[in-house]
Amino acid sequence: MTIRPFTQPIYVTRPVFPPLKSFTQRLESVWSAAWLTNMGAQHQLLERALREHLRVAELSLFCNGTIALMVAAKALDLEGEVLTTPFTFAATPHSLEWNRLTPVFCDLDPQTCNLDPAAAEARVTERTSAILAVHVFGQPCDVDGLEALARRHGLKIIYDAAHAFGLEVDGRSIGQYGDITMYSFHATKLFHTAEGGALACTNRDLKQRIDQLKNFDIRNEETVGGLGLNGKMNEVQAALGLAVLEVLDEERTRRARIEDIYRQILAGVDGVILPPLNHRVTRKSLQYFPIRIVPEAYGRSRDTLHELMKEYNVITRKYFFPLCSQYPCYAGLPSANPMDLPVAHMIVNQCLTLPFYGALSDQDATRIAEMIGALRA
Ligand SMILES: *Cc1c(COP(=O)(O)O)cnc(C)c1O
Repeated sequence: MTIRPFTQPIYVTRPVFPPLKSFTQRLESVWSAAWLTNMGAQHQLLERALREHLRVAELSLFCNGTIALMVAAKALDLEGEVLTTPFTFAATPHSLEWNRLTPVFCDLDPQTCNLDPAAAEARVTERTSAILAVHVFGQPCDVDGLEALARRHGLKIIYDAAHAFGLEVDGRSIGQYGDITMYSFHATKLFHTAEGGALACTNRDLKQRIDQLKNFDIRNEETVGGLGLNGKMNEVQAALGLAVLEVLDEERTRRARIEDIYRQILAGVDGVILPPLNHRVTRKSLQYFPIRIVPEAYGRSRDTLHELMKEYNVITRKYFFPLCSQYPCYAGLPSANPMDLPVAHMIVNQCLTLPFYGALSDQDATRIAEMIGALRA
């Protein structure tokens, strides 16, 4: 079978662009209100709309997901060590370091590629105050296992749901698990505000604390309580978010179709592991489509496939290579020893995320999946 290269590069994602008019109409309201930031009308509208869309009790909008995550750790008054995953984006451990907390990297569940509660429990010390787990690629963590672990040792739980917008487990929003859940609204995420993020929680007092911290910890006109920062989402971001939200169902429908195409074709390719289907997931996130390449069965390594596909103009990504525990700033931590993270080190060399966005045509998705079949050695 001859493989036809694409004439234009196909990237791993393409941001959702709502009709420009739906954005500019909202900007007209911003202009006539003459109000650009500090929890204006667009901010209020988006906060309410997302609270309903995500089916969470409390929600606070942020300028980006990283700042939101930093505020989450601060709002819970964490100290000492936090159990976390090495298989994530840099923002996850960085948010701990900025709070002078020590990330403790724990090994992964080989099915979900998420933090393994048993591996995490083995790393609990008297200094451990919390778990920061990531629903990586929209696969839910073992939320029951982590909750039981947290209860046994009196730990808080923060979930990084940057990949899990709209995910539901047992009919319940992923944002209702743990103490705080962070969402990222970066342009490359399913729902976006160009840059943005949010924290969800179930407790009104905690929401109030979060809102103070994201506004310099200003308590009233004459009182600043402590060390806050500026994490506010502005009106232009919020207006964009409202416009994106309007076309999100359409985007999700397209992505579900592309996922079906990928699954159908790739199920027949030896050495390709598809994202696991979890029967407890009642609504998928549809943000990424990661596959795993088992070189012994596929005949080539993930890295070779990544390079070969590039030659045919398909730009896949080796998310999240390298592991955070391999960054120079974390590699010296005792928990970063590769001997203690065998599953993470296997997975990080197998994962490849495929182009996945609504504007990708059925034909192109089919060609990409068939290319992966044809490149098997
Ligand atoms: C995108 C992302 C974040 C937050 O990133 P921002 O760009 O600051 O919104 C955090 N964690 C993970 C796993 C991410 O992918």
